Amino acid sequence: MRKQKSDPMSDVVIIGGGAVGSATAYLLSKKGISVTLVLGTAFGKTASSFAAGLLSPLFETTHDQYPLKSLSIQGFNLHQTLAPELLEITGLDYQARQQDSIYLSTTQKTTTRLEGLMTLSKHIEGISGHWLDQNDLRSLDPRIKSANPKSLLINGTWLLDAYGYTNALIEGARKKGARIINGSVTNIKKSGSGFQIILDGSRINTEKIVLSMGPWTNMLREWLNISVPVSPLKGQILRIELSGPPLEYSVYKGSNYVASKPSGLVWAGTTEENVGFSDNPTTEGRKSIISNVSSFFPSISIGVVKDQTACLRPVTPDGQPILGKTTKSNGIYIATGAGRRGILLSPSMAEIICQLITNAQPSVPIDSLSPDRFN
Ligand SMILES: Cc1cc2nc3c(=O)[nH]c(=O)nc-3n(C[C@H](O)[C@H](O)[C@H](O)COP(=O)(O)OP(=O)(O)OC[C@H]3O[C@@H](n4cnc5c(N)ncnc54)[C@H](O)[C@@H]3O)c2cc1C
Repeated sequence: MRKQKSDPMSDVVIIGGGAVGSATAYLLSKKGISVTLVLGTAFGKTASSFAAGLLSPLFETTHDQYPLKSLSIQGFNLHQTLAPELLEITGLDYQARQQDSIYLSTTQKTTTRLEGLMTLSKHIEGISGHWLDQNDLRSLDPRIKSANPKSLLINGTWLLDAYGYTNALIEGARKKGARIINGSVTNIKKSGSGFQIILDGSRINTEKIVLSMGPWTNMLREWLNISVPVSPLKGQILRIELSGPPLEYSVYKGSNYVASKPSGLVWAGTTEENVGFSDNPTTEGRKSIISNVSSFFPSISIGVVKDQTACLRPVTPDGQPILGKTTKSNGIYIATGAGRRGILLSPSMAEIICQLITNAQPSVPIDSLSPDRFN
């Protein structure tokens, strides 16, 4: 029988190298805490690599819910300091930059939603909103169509390459001393006052574990009998080659969007599919994106699809992230369930976990996001 290698103790082990886990590894390592980050075998093929990378603190209506609103604004602000910081530390440029957004409305309900976004935009530094009529919209980009006379321009939103961002966080953590493991955890066992984490071929002992495995975080039930009701919500994106100038704006209509990336391709999304852990791109997904996006950006239908991706968002029953310590077992921290906004929220979720681990007061009150709220 092959003898299992026993690794030395690590102060904190982070399981899951998506945006949330990698940001946590980076911020903790920066504070001089000894960190091991276990990436997972699906690394590079999950939501944190395939996400559109749109960063708007006004991303969804639910953002006016507290504390999600504060976490979104904090995440948005942290992204702006992280991009130059990680570039300096790692030399990796994940193309984070300002790209303003246009929100189109369709019905009275969406117009009311845009009015909410306009109000919110007045309270966020660096963001400003302006109403557009049909002529204004045409002058910004004649390819964008809207049957509704009123659209909203938000100046100050950002865009980044999600794969590059996650990779830069991992590299940043490595440079700050974190140990990075390419592999998957197969079990966690209680051991003395701490835990033993079992990987294929090795074991790690620790007193503190951060679970940031996206939709797979529900494995905690099997490992330690702790229920984390997070589930996968599949989303697809098309990467399209289009002739003509790039779009200068990210354009949203409801849950669909289109944006030009620095690669020159236009990204169009998305779908919301409750199909368990199946993450294959499908013909139906492709047709649905083309059909929805061409209703406000008709040129998409004559573009050439160069790539199609699918991945799984971690979602929770109440639509809010799960963030904090569980009372079920001392030393277990959970950070998941960011749904459609996990890239935006990853630095603020990481910051909160850092504060909890270092016994600092969380900068955003997170009681309502507690892992125990579902019991
Ligand atoms: C189509 C689409 C577009 C999106 N666009 C945006 C956007 O524009 N802006 C935005 O803010 N958000 C966006 N999102 C949401 C965002 O991508 C997710 O919320 C975010 O990536 C979730 O990050 P995570 O780190 O929680 O999980 P994940 O990215 O799922 O990472 C989890 C990690 O855990 C690892 N893992 C799993 N099991 C184990 C194990 N046993 N051991 C070790 N590791 C394990 C996996 O390999 C993976 O690396 C989008 C999502 C989709 C699907």
